[in-house]
Amino acid sequence: MERKLVSPVVIDDVQPIEGADLIEVATVKGWKLVIKKGEFVTGDHAVYCEIDSFLPVKEEFEFLRKSSFRRMGEQEGFRLKTMRMRGQISQGLLLPIRLLDGYTYQLGEDVSAHLGVVKYEPPMPAALGGIAKGNFPSFIPKTDEERIQNLSKEFESYKQHTFYVTEKLDGSSVTYYMNEGLFGVCSRNLDLEASEDNSFWKVAEKENIAAKLAALGKNIAIQGELIGEGIQGNAYGFRGQTARFFNAFDIDAYRYLGLEEFTALIASLDLQTVPILDLNYTLPATLDEMLTIADGASVLSPQGKSVEREGLVIRSTDRKISFKVISNKFLLNER
Ligand code: ATP
Ligand code: MN
Ligand code: MN
Repeated sequence: MERKLVSPVVIDDVQPIEGADLIEVATVKGWKLVIKKGEFVTGDHAVYCEIDSFLPVKEEFEFLRKSSFRRMGEQEGFRLKTMRMRGQISQGLLLPIRLLDGYTYQLGEDVSAHLGVVKYEPPMPAALGGIAKGNFPSFIPKTDEERIQNLSKEFESYKQHTFYVTEKLDGSSVTYYMNEGLFGVCSRNLDLEASEDNSFWKVAEKENIAAKLAALGKNIAIQGELIGEGIQGNAYGFRGQTARFFNAFDIDAYRYLGLEEFTALIASLDLQTVPILDLNYTLPATLDEMLTIADGASVLSPQGKSVEREGLVIRSTDRKISFKVISNKFLLNER
């Protein structure tokens, strides 16, 4: 699912911030953000821009220059990041509805194009690029996870489910598949031509993944996170690259394997899963608590050093519910 970066919303709440006279904290779904005092009140409609929005250089956004000016390739703009002001975490931006120029909007629809907002994407190293053989295969779902802040309505009903929790690794998504005898290596969005310089292919060779999948004798895909040198700053301090898997997909049945089947398969292939932190997890009372729980040290922290984990991925045992909880501590460190 494409992310709705910018959408008209109802402001769910506005509260004072202790010790601050000029600013207040607004709640929009599961998000908290700092606004100017009196700018909005509870119940107002506004245009909400999520973190990672890249706003165009326009007069009405110039107030963002000091905090948020960025280049993205050739483009200049303003990148919205997680911030902390007066101890209050602030994620995203609320803009007055009038910026939509009288457009008849629906709450929740994506209006990023109206404002010229795109997603901020950090530059991608060449070893993770490569030449596309084609688009991502249509017979396998792309990897993705919704943010818990956008599931605040569902949170209450999720409490009756039992979940398993894995650490969210900060790398690059990889899919390896064997379909009708054809082995494929895909990055997040592309099916990649074989290449010695490409990190996704290097790991496939090193781990002998084509042969391992072929030996299973069926059409199958495994999906994971590529981590290590040259990937997202390699906070884990790995030599070379490696993959940690979080999905196995039965292509013929068009279905993900359940947790037990999945872990058994990955073990039988002599590969590794992402760190599994809890197999019998129930949600805390509030979404705010959930966010605090996401903070913590990565299981993959290098010896003698503690690195902030990116967050958690939480899935119901039946796999019908799945979402990510990104650590705000991690986001505050992001550059
Ligand atoms: P966004 O949609 O928030 O802009 P994004 O979709 O580009 O960001 P991420 O925030 O990295 O990507 O979240 C989804 C990705 O998380 C998946 O595509 C997958 O590659 C990765 N991931 C890392 N660790 C895990 C894990 N333990 N379980 C599932 N996915 C994981
Ligand atoms: Mn996404
Ligand atoms: Mn990621």
